[in-house]
Amino acid sequence: MLSENEAKFKYCPLLKTGQDKLRFCQGAMCMMWRWLDLEKTGPTDKGYCGLAGGPVRD
Ligand code: SF4
Repeated sequence: MLSENEAKFKYCPLLKTGQDKLRFCQGAMCMMWRWLDLEKTGPTDKGYCGLAGGPVRD
């Protein structure tokens, strides 16, 4: 679980450059991005990549 601002500095397993290097997460611009709370969708509000399912909680 992390903010969109933080996610934009994590590598996406799906996106690559023309030179085959990983690209950063696109955050809410990507259809796989999920918000923790749909009422809170700002750059510092929490969310996660839905590609691997929901986040594991303690
Ligand atoms: S939300 Fe997931 S699939 Fe979408 S850009 Fe970010 S890491 Fe990649």
